[in-house]
Amino acid sequence: MKYSHQREAIRAAIMSVKTHPTAAEIYDMVREEIPNISLGTVYRNLSQLADAGDILRITTGEGTERFDATTDDHYHLACRCCGGVSDLELPELDGMDTSAERATGAKIERHSLIFYGVCPACRERAER
Ligand SMILES: [Zn+2]
Ligand SMILES: [Zn+2]
Repeated sequence: MKYSHQREAIRAAIMSVKTHPTAAEIYDMVREEIPNISLGTVYRNLSQLADAGDILRITTGEGTERFDATTDDHYHLACRCCGGVSDLELPELDGMDTSAERATGAKIERHSLIFYGVCPACRERAER
């Protein structure tokens, strides 16, 4: 019971933001609700949620794992200026799994795609 409450609080924390938070950021958010939760517990629950497919684990190459409560196919932009990860809407890529299946004969279950560059906010700041 306590265990599932923690797990739900962690999932709710990830869902409450659009920033694709790191484990440390999730820990800070969840601690407001469950002050005695440990970082280890947060990590363990994040692994279990990700393994169950309830959340996505995103690794951008900067070495820090980030988490996402949106598990539908969608794409990410990793900004090299602010280090942020945001969602991208690219409906034209919707047929990618089917294309990959046709091209390879493989059974495609999911894909992940990260675009690297400068996010709109950082780009605007740089150009001002
Ligand atoms: Zn940025
Ligand atoms: Zn996302």
